[in-house]
Amino acid sequence: MKKICVMGSINVDLTVSIPRFHAPGETIEGTNFATFTGGKGGNQAIAAARLGADVTLVGAIGEDDFGRSYLETFRKEGVNPAGVAVVPGVSTGTALIEVAADGDNRIAYIPGANGKLTEALIDAQRTLIESAGVFMFQMETYLPGAFHAARLAHEAGACVILDPAPAQPVSAEWLSYCDYVTPNETELALLTGMPVKTIEDAEAAARKLISMGAKAVLNKRGPQGVLLVTAEGSQLFKGFKVNAVDTTAAGDSFNAGFAVGLAMGDSLPDAIRLANAVGALSTTAAGAQAAMPTMAAAKELMDSQR
Ligand code: ADP
Repeated sequence: MKKICVMGSINVDLTVSIPRFHAPGETIEGTNFATFTGGKGGNQAIAAARLGADVTLVGAIGEDDFGRSYLETFRKEGVNPAGVAVVPGVSTGTALIEVAADGDNRIAYIPGANGKLTEALIDAQRTLIESAGVFMFQMETYLPGAFHAARLAHEAGACVILDPAPAQPVSAEWLSYCDYVTPNETELALLTGMPVKTIEDAEAAARKLISMGAKAVLNKRGPQGVLLVTAEGSQLFKGFKVNAVDTTAAGDSFNAGFAVGLAMGDSLPDAIRLANAVGALSTTAAGAQAAMPTMAAAKELMDSQR
C-alpha cells in the first residue's frame, strides 16, 4: 500500500446550543456545549486512517491546549502528525458555532495557524511530502503554501488529489499539479462561473475546468454519487443507499476513500466505488468524524449493493 500524505486545515469546533440568537450586548443561557475536532485536513486524515491507510498529516496548530489535544486525537486515530508544525503567537484554527433551537446556525471562524502554513513551513516537511504515493489537499489553509506542497508532491511523482473547498479562483499552473479535482456542485459552479444544476450542466462545467488545466474532475453529487469527467469522456458512478442523518464531512470522507483506493492500487472505477461507499457511510450518524467507517464496513456496504 502506498503512503498517503494529507496536507490541510486543523480546526476545533466549539458548538453551543441556544434557544435563539441573542442581541449585541445580551447574555443568553444555552442548553449544551460540545467540542469537535474538524478541519478538512484533519477530517480527511482521520477518515483515511480509519480505512487502514498509512497516513501522515502536514498542517499547523497554535501553541494552545486545543492544538495539543487534537494531536493526541490524531495519534489515537492512527494518523502520524509528524508534519504538523506548532506556530507560536497564533491560535489553533477555531470555529465558534451557535446553533439556535430552530436549527439555524451562526459561525465565527478563526483560521489561526492554518493561515500561517507558508511555503517555508511546507519546505520543512519536504521529505514527508515527497515520499507519499498519494497526496491530498484542500483550500482551507494559506493557498500559496498549499499549492507549493502540491507542486512538490507532483514533481516527486505522487498522485495529487485536490478538494477545491472552500472554492476560490485557481490558476492553470496550480491546476496542472493536480491529477484529480473533486468539487461538489457549488464548488464546481464557483470555480468555473457556470451554473451547475443538472448532470449536463456539471459535465459542461467540468469540461471547462479541464480546459482551465485540470486533468480529471470528480463532481461530488450527494446521494446521486459522483460524475467522473476526463478529456476522454464522462461516467456517473451511482451513490449507495443509506439512511443519511448528517452529511457534514461526507465530501472529506469521499476523498479519503478515493485516496485509499488509489493507494491500494485499485482501478479508477474501484477507487470511486470505495469513495462513494465511504462518503455514504459517513452520513449515517451525527458529527463529522463519528461515522467515518472502517474498511470492513465499507466492504460490507459495497457487497450488499452490487
Ligand atoms: P460535500 O460534502 O463536499 O458537499 P457531497 O454532499 O456531494 O459532498 O458528498 C460527497 C459524497 O458522499 C457523494 O459524492 C456521495 O458519494 C456521498 N454521499 C453524500 N451524501 C450522501 C447520501 N445522502 N447518500 C449516499 N451517499 C452520499
